[in-house]
Amino acid sequence: KPAHERMSNRSFLAFIFFFSMFTTCLYFIYAAPGIANTYFFMVQAQGIMLRDNVRTIGHMIRLYTNKNSTLNGTDYPDGSNSSELLIQPTTFLPENFTYAQNLPCPERLPSMKGPIEVNMTEIPIEEMELKFSTFFDIKFGGHWKPKDCKPRWKVAVLIPFRNRHEHLPILFQHLTPMLQRQRLQFSYYVIEQTGSHPFNRAMLFNVGFLEAMKDLAWDCLVFHDVDHIPENDRNYYGCGQMPRHFAAKLDKYMYILPYSEFFGGVSGLTVEQFRKINGFPNAFWGWGGEDDDLWNRVHYAGLNVTRPEGEMGKYKSIPHHHRGEVQFLGRYKLLRYSKERQHLDGLNNLRYVARVSLHGLYKNITVDLQPELAPIADY
Ligand code: UDP
Ligand code: MN
Repeated sequence: KPAHERMSNRSFLAFIFFFSMFTTCLYFIYAAPGIANTYFFMVQAQGIMLRDNVRTIGHMIRLYTNKNSTLNGTDYPDGSNSSELLIQPTTFLPENFTYAQNLPCPERLPSMKGPIEVNMTEIPIEEMELKFSTFFDIKFGGHWKPKDCKPRWKVAVLIPFRNRHEHLPILFQHLTPMLQRQRLQFSYYVIEQTGSHPFNRAMLFNVGFLEAMKDLAWDCLVFHDVDHIPENDRNYYGCGQMPRHFAAKLDKYMYILPYSEFFGGVSGLTVEQFRKINGFPNAFWGWGGEDDDLWNRVHYAGLNVTRPEGEMGKYKSIPHHHRGEVQFLGRYKLLRYSKERQHLDGLNNLRYVARVSLHGLYKNITVDLQPELAPIADY
């Protein structure tokens, strides 16, 4: 065979090889960013755990070989989180505690037992609605309030949503009994995005907030991913002096906080705090970054974030195939200007038209989100 023919054969193979590499990369960047990010985190987490184990083993060896030291079982090196599992909150009220209608409901009730059994079976929403209106006494539209004491917090649970219908009943099934055991007044708002733009979780939360405030003087906002199921009913969904990050330990992140500034999944702010930080940014289209921007906003406003301790912050995620949500690659640039953008982009520059409908368990707020709804002058 002449040389030039062999060459073209080889370069054809090389082309196929590089082309498939390239498309694989594009797939993980655009179509399945969650998978790639989760994978990178897993590798990192395994590294952390390995290092911890090595440190612990090293420490044990040192203890055994050093004849002068005493061996007591409580001696662990710094940074080992094994002791954290031993801390159990013991300050919950006793079973015989009696409620009083004219007194605020306590935060640590005997009805809050701890671990929740998580059941991911898909159920039709109609079945759920029937069960909830009768057994759980939920008003049409998703509202509930305790009758035996004065609710400490009026909580609007905001759920950003597009095309995840099978998740909703699973979430409600776990959240409703938990919020009732916590004696919180609450309503569910499902904020649904239509139109062809990339998903904008943050802007949906802003719309949900503005709509919810038309119903009632809520004082506490919980921003809740539809696929996050709490595993412990002592994870109290009320608000506090500081913004709260409820979803501290996710099964998909091996129950470790992926990074200390992580503020995703489920978070909560008082209405006052949320107004102070001008809400969420509107400029994050697609997957990622909006929760980090919220973290920045909270800290620039001089606030801090608290998290539930130990087991209480555990969540399971409903397994979902990534339905082609594009990664928002512009997020790194926006995050560098969090401070400057905080008062230009948020609740104060948002215009929208929403369609509102009542369902058995929730209020649906449907909006067609467009970048033009939140104009921002260049800074
Ligand atoms: N979401 C949705 N439809 C979508 C994308 C996102 O309803 O197509 C909502 C949903 O509440 C979800 C949240 O936005 O829990 C976060 O998105 P996703 O679960 O895709 O992010 P990840 O868990 O991979 O970080
Ligand atoms: Mn998710």
